[in-house]
Amino acid sequence: MVQKKNRSTSKQKKRNSTIGIIITCLIIIFIFVGIKNNSDNNSSNPPEEGSSEIQQTTENTSFEKETEKTSESEIGTTNTETSTKETTTEKITKEPETVVITTKPVLTGSFYDKVKYRSPDAVPADIFKHGRNLMLLNRQYELPEDFKWDLVYWSNGQSVDAMYLNCEEKNSVKAVDRAAYQPLKDMFAAADEAGVPLQLVSAFRSIHLQDKLFTRSVNSYMSQGYSETDAINKANYSRTFSGTSEHNTGLGFDILEKGNFSLSESFENTSQFRWLMENAENYGFILRYAEDKTTQTGIMYEPWHFRYVGVEHAKKINELGMCLEEYINYLEA
Ligand SMILES: [Zn+2]
Repeated sequence: MVQKKNRSTSKQKKRNSTIGIIITCLIIIFIFVGIKNNSDNNSSNPPEEGSSEIQQTTENTSFEKETEKTSESEIGTTNTETSTKETTTEKITKEPETVVITTKPVLTGSFYDKVKYRSPDAVPADIFKHGRNLMLLNRQYELPEDFKWDLVYWSNGQSVDAMYLNCEEKNSVKAVDRAAYQPLKDMFAAADEAGVPLQLVSAFRSIHLQDKLFTRSVNSYMSQGYSETDAINKANYSRTFSGTSEHNTGLGFDILEKGNFSLSESFENTSQFRWLMENAENYGFILRYAEDKTTQTGIMYEPWHFRYVGVEHAKKINELGMCLEEYINYLEA
């Protein structure tokens, strides 16, 4: 019995080891075939379009995800920074003189919410009609509520507005619209070379700073005995309502001769003014409030105020002898 049992156990062992060998062989064969197929795919066959598509799709997806994340976090940031002032995000570029900033409008309602005096008549400017550089802002058109600034800081000396700008954080240096930044730099460099060094006196002015200046002006007239309505009308002659000044865009600039900070008509007697009248258009700037166009612009003669419109338009505007209002009408006619 014992022997029988032993024999049958050894038989079973033999069978088990045979099965084991067969399984091992099968595994080896499978592995071999697998490796062969793989190496065949890698070496001889060109990559299938499908597989590269899959790769691309994966890349795209991850890119889209990143984009989504960025915009989410942007929205998140702006939502948390809403209530009292314009939000700014800063990114310092390598060039030491410039800090690139993006000023976003306040998102709870509009950036006009905190403004004390807003134009009762102005309608939103259509900034896309003729392109951003030709955005028309005047007493009839105010900055639209969804306007997004794209500003670059310009730290070139002081400005007459500096005393006001200092009231606001980060505004002790000036900012200009990104499109106008390089042309402005180039124009200043050229003026230096021509021996007529320029001074950027005033550039971008925030909606709230504009309102402060306007309010100050209204208060001043009221303290002289004018009613509030009359004071507002008077203030609106020299100052403009928030959102209706070209300085609110970053595309309008007050430029004087270097060292001069006082905006006066006598600037027209300087060689700097003469140089600007001849050369500003080559950099995309026009004299915005000319002496013979006050009726059309609604703004007094300002020999110091230049507006960036781009080279092509600047040359055309000067050639036609028009102000921006007339030029826009001309384009639309
Ligand atoms: Zn100005």
